[in-house]
Amino acid sequence: MSEWERLIPKPRSKFLRVKCPDCGNEQIVFSHATTTVHCNICSAILAEPSGGKAKVKGEIVATLE
Ligand SMILES: [Zn+2]
Repeated sequence: MSEWERLIPKPRSKFLRVKCPDCGNEQIVFSHATTTVHCNICSAILAEPSGGKAKVKGEIVATLE
């Protein structure tokens, strides 16, 4: 469990539909991903962990709660 998760017991986590900036593929990314998320098509980085909410590199086209 990360330090952030201990500090905030109930994070408002979501799933995000992210559009790959390189190939336009859309895929679902967890908003608090703890590992780097790569595009399934071209392997571009779509999100990187940042100790809490992931840094999303592509365009967020939808938020799924
Ligand atoms: Zn891609």
